[in-house]
Amino acid sequence: MEKLNNQERSQLKKILTERDKALREDIRREISLQSEYADVASEVPDTGDLAFANLSIDLGNAAVTRDLHELRAIGHALKRLDNGSYGECISCGYEIPFKRLMAIPTAERCAPCQKNFERTYHQEGMRGMSL
Ligand SMILES: [Zn+2]
Repeated sequence: MEKLNNQERSQLKKILTERDKALREDIRREISLQSEYADVASEVPDTGDLAFANLSIDLGNAAVTRDLHELRAIGHALKRLDNGSYGECISCGYEIPFKRLMAIPTAERCAPCQKNFERTYHQEGMRGMSL
């Protein structure tokens, strides 16, 4: 399998960056809807750090929690893009096909390894996380 070329890489980076931005806006909106937490929401930091994650858990807001999971996955993907490990399956080390990455830009594994991983560790309730 070929390594991603620069054009593919920047295409994926753009998708991830835009998704990142949209998610942050979503999360802000979700949190600000809960007026009793309005003062907390004003202190939500720009980066998807742990305080941010803890906030959503405190709020017990399923939508925010889901968004934060995705935001974190995107953060990891962007980091891998920077350090050059993006597109490499973290289980078997082979290149993840560009087509799969376009469908699931946060994919850390090739399709067979992901299936394997889910069968082993994510029997229930985590199906959406493979996206
Ligand atoms: Zn693999």
